[in-house]
Amino acid sequence: MRFETKAIHSGLSIGNPSSAIIPPISPSTIFEIDAEGRKENDLHYTRLANPNRLQFEHLIATLEGGENAAAFSSGIAAATAALQALEPGDHIIIPEDVYAGNRKMVQKIMMRWGLEADFIEMTDLSNIESHIRPNTKLIWVETPSNPLMRITDIAGVSELAKSQSHKIHVIVDNTWPTPVNQLPFEHGADLVLHSTSKYFGGHSDILGGAIVTKHEDDLFAQIRLTQQMGGAVPSPQDCWMLSRSTRTLAYRMKGHNEHAEKVARYLSGHRKVAEIYYPGLESHPQHETAKKQMTGFGGMISFMPDCSEKECIEIVGRSKLIKRATSLGGVESTWEHRFSSEGEGSITPKNLIRISIGLEHPDDLIDDLELALG
Ligand SMILES: *Cc1c(COP(=O)(O)O)cnc(C)c1O
Repeated sequence: MRFETKAIHSGLSIGNPSSAIIPPISPSTIFEIDAEGRKENDLHYTRLANPNRLQFEHLIATLEGGENAAAFSSGIAAATAALQALEPGDHIIIPEDVYAGNRKMVQKIMMRWGLEADFIEMTDLSNIESHIRPNTKLIWVETPSNPLMRITDIAGVSELAKSQSHKIHVIVDNTWPTPVNQLPFEHGADLVLHSTSKYFGGHSDILGGAIVTKHEDDLFAQIRLTQQMGGAVPSPQDCWMLSRSTRTLAYRMKGHNEHAEKVARYLSGHRKVAEIYYPGLESHPQHETAKKQMTGFGGMISFMPDCSEKECIEIVGRSKLIKRATSLGGVESTWEHRFSSEGEGSITPKNLIRISIGLEHPDDLIDDLELALG
């Protein structure tokens, strides 16, 4: 079956003994124990497993082409679980412009517990190679990166990891492209990270995250343990909502891709725009790598007007339709002066504006941008 079909039909029958086409929400925290005693993999207690969570995990694993998935209460909780599956003293390589929340989590939480990390520029494979150490256990890829939209060659990084004498896992944060536009497992990655708060949820009303694994290996078993015993699990209601949203993911992404490309082309021709970062534009420095691993270029655009930080904040302040908000992936367009959201340790230029292109008519967005840019 093709992606669109799988998105609509996968997971519906898991833990759904009734004939309901749409499974009910199962708020129960407890599940009856078999008369003969506990069975392996019974639901037992909702922190360990819940029908709605199993449905969503099956759905997201199917769409990424992985063997299994673990859903979490946020993207950061999922990212933390992936790192907690490593040992103290292990080393990771992570992008210098990684999603700011993950940078803070690594620096202020995981490094205190003995994780070693190098935050580096990752568009150049030789730079990654030169940072590999005997204790390197994980290479973290975020492509396109946030908000500089740098593209990292997933196949190149995966080959590099596999060519080492010890096992190095490659994790790809696939939140921005989603499996509609990019399938990291096809390029050799081992794990995929998602903030499902973004395009999977798609309507700016669910917080969630997931780790998908290509193979059910020991590392994933440890991630599952952290999910169940760390306890950062999503509610049955949120899982149900996420599955509902995911049924339309393919069509929403097609709209985001199409509208963002139109707006990116408009912005790239605007006299006040000094620099624009959108991987679908031929002018993007890693456009060729993007074409190799992405089938669509997503709904996110970053650009830098030729102006000061203050003027940049004023531009964002003038929009009437595009809402001023952080985050991304909703049906409504949002934008922000990104440096203000990232704060300490950010390498984002102070005149960078990041837009999440929604599903409004793109000409209405362009009218609003015309007004704001002046
Ligand atoms: C939002 C985001 C996260 C963090 O997810 P939360 O659900 O906010 O915890 C991680 N990575 C990327 C790329 C994101 O955009």
